[in-house]
Amino acid sequence: MSTPLTVTVTGAAGQIGYALLFRIAAGDMLGDHPVRLRLLEIPQAVAAAEGTAMELADAAFPLLESVDVFDDADAAFEGAEVALLVGARPRGAGMERGDLLAANGAIFGPQGRAINDHAADGIRVLVVGNPANTNALIAAAHAPDVPAERFTAMTRLDHNRGLAQLAAKLGVGVGRLTRMTVWGNHSSTQVPDPSHVLLDGEPVGFEPAWVAEQFVPTVANRGAAIIEARGASSAASAASAAVDHMRDWVLGTRDGDWVSVALPSRGEYGVPAGLVSSLPAVSVDGEWRVVEGLELSDSVRAGLDASVAELTAERDAVRSLGLVD
Ligand code: NDP
Repeated sequence: MSTPLTVTVTGAAGQIGYALLFRIAAGDMLGDHPVRLRLLEIPQAVAAAEGTAMELADAAFPLLESVDVFDDADAAFEGAEVALLVGARPRGAGMERGDLLAANGAIFGPQGRAINDHAADGIRVLVVGNPANTNALIAAAHAPDVPAERFTAMTRLDHNRGLAQLAAKLGVGVGRLTRMTVWGNHSSTQVPDPSHVLLDGEPVGFEPAWVAEQFVPTVANRGAAIIEARGASSAASAASAAVDHMRDWVLGTRDGDWVSVALPSRGEYGVPAGLVSSLPAVSVDGEWRVVEGLELSDSVRAGLDASVAELTAERDAVRSLGLVD
């Protein structure tokens, strides 16, 4: 039997949390490691989180050792080895970007500090709550004792959406495709890039016009299309992407494949060091390693530069609020 792992999930009573917790408890994220769940919610949502905890108990998952609900971050992150930061402040009507960043700074700053002071050594953090890249930057800035590369943000849903579109275009199962890449920010400036994708290990070319006019806008606007179709934002697919991200980080990526991960740049591909940008990465021995040396087309280069400019502006905005150095 593998060792149990302690997993903290914030925003546990939300839509994504509701889909995510059952996948974690079923063993989809951490293989055969038993799981101790610690759920964090704001006080007014604690009762709902406790209801979810009751359902988790009733599902009788063999791998689920315990579920505890908290409204205090210090307690919720005690001993955490894996943290999924899902709860965030949504953009309200009339809210400026600066207000949104400040509101999220008030959430992710204290959570970063709680992770610093209470989480286990080797904590792995995935930020899902938006603006995810910059929220990860804020959390990391409040955790000086935790290596910055332990804070990542999610672009795996964009990555998976890209794979789904390519599989549909080719009329093949998605499992036959590898090496999709999403560059930059998890926002409308993201750069989904199919140019290195392999089908059964062999290169596939996609027409540049189709990529520019169909593929990129479909992937970038998929969230809005789902809201229109189902009358609610995507939740199960976001939860599934979070499971994929953390499973690959802990257990390793598939041989010959890479995935898209927003992590602190070390200057790869001209992304300024320290910005949390989506890059292609493999997970080896429990660490992300950026895949270097890929050739970027002119359009990908221009798109990445624009997305990096947006990330830089977000960083400058939170810096002016005193949320990062
Ligand atoms: P969701 O569970 O639907 O979404 C949570 C966060 O994930 C949002 O920031 C959302 O961004 C983001 N997100 C990332 N990718 C996606 C995607 N593909 N589709 C949809 N959302 C995505 O939100 P709910 O409102 O249902 O639940 C949020 C919960 O968080 C509430 O229960 C609230 O009480 C809690 N909360 C907890 C906090 C804490 O633990 N300290 C702090 C703040 C809130 P976007 O807004 O851009 O859609």
